[in-house]
Amino acid sequence: MNIFLNPGHSPNGNPDPGACNLSLNLRECDIALSIGNKIRNLLLQNNYDVRLLQSNNLCGESPSQPNITYAANSWPADIFVSIHCNSFNSKARGSETLIYPDSTKGLYLANNIQSNLITAIQSVDTTFPNRGVKPRSDLAVLRYTNMPAVLIELGFIDQKNDAAILTNFQDTLAQAINSGINKYKV
Ligand SMILES: [Zn+2]
Repeated sequence: MNIFLNPGHSPNGNPDPGACNLSLNLRECDIALSIGNKIRNLLLQNNYDVRLLQSNNLCGESPSQPNITYAANSWPADIFVSIHCNSFNSKARGSETLIYPDSTKGLYLANNIQSNLITAIQSVDTTFPNRGVKPRSDLAVLRYTNMPAVLIELGFIDQKNDAAILTNFQDTLAQAINSGINKYKV
């Protein structure tokens, strides 16, 4: 099975670090890449074929950078996993996984990943909220990919308890996502 990992945003080329926590000096692009690399290593141990690509060119809008959805579609990937951190009002917390509306296989993959993530994070923080699996039609990486695709919002980078999880429990997060992908059968 070909698995495409897309850590969100990119500090390179046309810089867009994504959401930031200035007081903790955290950037979404760095957390997503670090956790993405950990997931990649776990998947490779299970003999999956894995490509990891971080770029601000999601579907051709920034030609100087590699095109994420083109790379996934032309490989072709069997599943697509985008990794992000949320940001809102410094109070909101929790994980959510986004899918393209009415994608049955996407929903199946998302449910596997979301339930594993919540179980893993709540084992270290019982107050961590499960924000669930949500349909989103407007996100390029879900809309323009041809395979089951999920976008994981791991937690809120601007909330201090979530930021601590994103920083200190990256292996836990990566293992949970790896297990969720392992449960998925094409
Ligand atoms: Zn993002």
